[in-house]
Amino acid sequence: MDKIVALCKRRGFVFPASEIYGGIANTYDYGHYGVLLKNNVIAQWWKAMIQDRDDIVALDSAIIQHPRTWEASGHLAGFTDPLVDCRTCKQRFRADHLQELECGRKPSVHPGEDPQCDLTEAREFNLMFETTIGPVKEAGATVYLRPETAQGIFLDFKQVLQFARRKPPFGIAQVGKSFRNEITPGNFVFRTLEFEQMEMEYFVPPDQAEYWYEHWLDERMDWYVRLGIERERLRLRAHDADELSHYSSATSDVEYLYPIGWSELEGIANRGSFDLTQHAQYSGERLEYKDPQSGETYVPHVIEPAAGVGRSLLAFLCDAYDEDEIGGERRTVLRLHPALAPVKVAVLPLLRRDGHPELARNVYEQLRRHVKAEYDDGGAIGRRYRRQDEIGTPFAVTIDHQSVEDGTVTLRDRDTLAQERVAIEGLERLLQDRLAVE
Ligand code: ATP
Repeated sequence: MDKIVALCKRRGFVFPASEIYGGIANTYDYGHYGVLLKNNVIAQWWKAMIQDRDDIVALDSAIIQHPRTWEASGHLAGFTDPLVDCRTCKQRFRADHLQELECGRKPSVHPGEDPQCDLTEAREFNLMFETTIGPVKEAGATVYLRPETAQGIFLDFKQVLQFARRKPPFGIAQVGKSFRNEITPGNFVFRTLEFEQMEMEYFVPPDQAEYWYEHWLDERMDWYVRLGIERERLRLRAHDADELSHYSSATSDVEYLYPIGWSELEGIANRGSFDLTQHAQYSGERLEYKDPQSGETYVPHVIEPAAGVGRSLLAFLCDAYDEDEIGGERRTVLRLHPALAPVKVAVLPLLRRDGHPELARNVYEQLRRHVKAEYDDGGAIGRRYRRQDEIGTPFAVTIDHQSVEDGTVTLRDRDTLAQERVAIEGLERLLQDRLAVE
């Protein structure tokens, strides 16, 4: 994990937020390549949801919803972690994570092990961030930053049913920020206070819930594999009965073997009719589906695949990270799937003279109309290759004296390190073929 964190910082993917003030707990900023990578992850998710199939529609609901939302959803009463305080070291710990946490004081390894540790009883602590609408805190309405994007989807169920003219089974997908006042140390972007979620609520006739739950388990596992993650480092773990959320009749986590061990990457839950029933009861609206032909009316059941963008990005980075040796020199390389790579091709003039830069810029400007390209003429060619390897660029095009003479360039492959001579004419096409997603 340290190597991934260092690479992310060195190349400006992801780094601690508010660093000039000493940072802020579990909060990170995404730099240029981080944004490009994150956008590609999100784009692939949207592709799988709304381009590769036609039974799902998109939504972007508000972060701050009516406060009754969280009463109905059960978050106000139940979205809590049990916390203990240590009177000696003044630190706060998740009561159910003591064995994985470090004591604020030595020689105790975990909190509560040393006679000096003085832990309070566990208290329930709500994870929702609270804020106020209106200029005066006391007189204003207390509202919450959403802790999941899903509830916005349930609130809009009726609208979507009407304007999208859908009939179950159909889904509503959304990507957006969620907020949780997490106090457990984060393991980089694995657990942060604000994070993006990619959530889809799939509404089905009740008797089809089991079938669609299985369907989405397979689909979501396949998505990660299609985008390059090793299948052996992925597994599905079904929740035990005592682990299930209050709303769920079955949940499985897609887990990835992170450097910190097997951990949740995505949760896939059979939420039954809990959410629509609750919101119907609290709002007085009828949130159900009436079949126009048969007249049958029912509250759809919901299957929810809920993934985190940061956790996915971290899994893709960990899986792509590799070190090897070229000509006795160590290299770090991100073997990212081409669809995810922040930059698809680097264009590098061998020299900064003899017409190389001019021709290279020409080629670069041609290529960038079709794929994310980068021009780099700074430093020795080996160093420039190394830089591109570290950000996972699948191809590098080098312009040398022969290019000026005969219009050919060297195309270098990040993974095989093969270098082939190809014509500038047709290069665009060649690259597009090799970068094709599937
Ligand atoms: P955990 O048990 O790790 O706290 P969770 O089961 O509470 O996660 P869900 O409510 O199922 O998480 O949220 C769906 C997804 O959102 C998770 O699988 C994860 O990818 C992401 N996620 C949840 N909390 C965080 C967080 N604090 N930081 C980053 N991503 C998160």
